Amino acid sequence: MSLETVPKELRNLRACLLCSLVKTFEQFEFDGCDNCEEYLHMKNNRDAVYECTSSNFDGVVAMMSPEDSWVAKWQRINRFTKGCYAISVTGRLPPGIVRELKSKGVNYRQRDTSQKT
Ligand SMILES: [Zn+2]
Repeated sequence: MSLETVPKELRNLRACLLCSLVKTFEQFEFDGCDNCEEYLHMKNNRDAVYECTSSNFDGVVAMMSPEDSWVAKWQRINRFTKGCYAISVTGRLPPGIVRELKSKGVNYRQRDTSQKT
């Protein structure tokens, strides 16, 4: 499959490294992450969007009713907002952000399920 066959908007999709929410780069830049903005501060911050999201992810699930979705429970996203979520995200948050998360009591689990470490 050549890149030409992928619609423009899809090529711009990125997944949040913390919660795996999938949106376009512009959406992350304009609105930040719906779940993690309080930690990642991506709003109006292109550098943060590049650091905290990844364009390399696998599989997308659409979550419409987090409360009673088994997929949501399985992906541990049942407390997150409705939207599209990647099943596996390649990449990791910068160490500085991981430290900040820790200090706020957030346990960062890598979203990359393609490799077992
Ligand atoms: Zn997020």
